[in-house]
Amino acid sequence: MIWAKEETLTRQEMSDLQFNRLKETLNRIYEKVPAYREKMNQAGVACEDIKDLDDLAKLPFTMKQDLRDNYPFGLFTAPKKDLVRIHASSGTTGKPTVVGYTKNDMDLWTECVSRIACMGGASSDDVAQISFGYGMFTGALGLHYGLENIGASVVPASSGNTQKQIMYMEDFEATLLVATPSYALHIGEIAKEMGKKLNIKIGLFGGEGMTEPMREEMYKLFGREMKVTQNYGMSELIGPGVSGECLELCGMHINEDHFIPEIINPDTGEVLAAGEKGELVVTCITKEALPLIRYRTGDITRLFYEPCKCGRTTVRMENLSGRSDDMLIIRGVNVFPSQIEEVLLKIPQIGAHYEILVDRKNHMDTMEISVELADESLLDSYAKLGELEKKIKFDLRTVLGLDAMIKLVGPRSLKRFEGKARRVTDLRK
Ligand SMILES: [Zn+2]
Repeated sequence: MIWAKEETLTRQEMSDLQFNRLKETLNRIYEKVPAYREKMNQAGVACEDIKDLDDLAKLPFTMKQDLRDNYPFGLFTAPKKDLVRIHASSGTTGKPTVVGYTKNDMDLWTECVSRIACMGGASSDDVAQISFGYGMFTGALGLHYGLENIGASVVPASSGNTQKQIMYMEDFEATLLVATPSYALHIGEIAKEMGKKLNIKIGLFGGEGMTEPMREEMYKLFGREMKVTQNYGMSELIGPGVSGECLELCGMHINEDHFIPEIINPDTGEVLAAGEKGELVVTCITKEALPLIRYRTGDITRLFYEPCKCGRTTVRMENLSGRSDDMLIIRGVNVFPSQIEEVLLKIPQIGAHYEILVDRKNHMDTMEISVELADESLLDSYAKLGELEKKIKFDLRTVLGLDAMIKLVGPRSLKRFEGKARRVTDLRK
């Protein structure tokens, strides 16, 4: 089901709508946000210089650092008394980034998530268990409001206490699961161990990327008929609801009437042509409290403008091959943990969990990957273990162009995560 008519506009209708909304937003920001006004003045660009959508490229970027520099409310265009919700994302260094919503922003957020839920096959018939951690993280409450809005019965289970989660799923006959892909796999494994047959037909996954082999693991655990989609967002932009996969599984449809996407060369900042791969930059054109202009997401993807078989005409972004924040540089080679995951999950003798340990020894970067065996019995055969280790090393070298040390460990011996998985430890820092 397609939730909103804006998902099926012609390209011209969409561009017209985007341009009008951009103008209105930009004027408001120029008037109300001194920090951005100063940036525009420094770049020598005025609101009147923006005469069509291509002129967006003349405007300065907004970076995560701008949010920190203007902590907590300096980039807001609405007065604090108009806010009805405030979230913050925990920064690993320094101050968190703070985001806020007016009443209208909440309606807009709910609308965007409703569309994404429908894209993933959700309906008012579903009992939706939300196993994202509630709190300052926008994921749980975003999905919560969107799913309630389409009429699903929402179970706000939050994350953790996995056995109780499984009891709720069984007793309430949950049909839909919201979680990070890694936590969903963990729930599936525990359910299997407990001998429970869950009836989850739809998985709306987010909070971290999901590789194709990981999707395959979902089918193995929850059944082939499950609809497994992922969606994308970030709290700086709105939270979840920026884009989501439809059931055609050919990238994530962006809610373009609210967010204008661009792809840039991350080194030079220049805008790349449609279809080229680069960093995703997003401009919010309908938000009242915090409409960021040309926000650099750090995520590497590309955009597809061809209409989709599902009937939606909105642009699709390719599933993320890795967040630039996650990228490791090992002996001068760029490595995304998702690349390692792709290699590992294609090898049937090993499970879906792994850990990457990066260190520096004698001025040389080293990478050790701990991998779980799928089956205990392999541990009894040194010959088979040796063979498997060799295969993993070979496959990794083919994809990464790097040698890694491999440590094979028994099934279920690595740490499990109830939210975003933290699989990389970098001891060089
Ligand atoms: Zn589609």
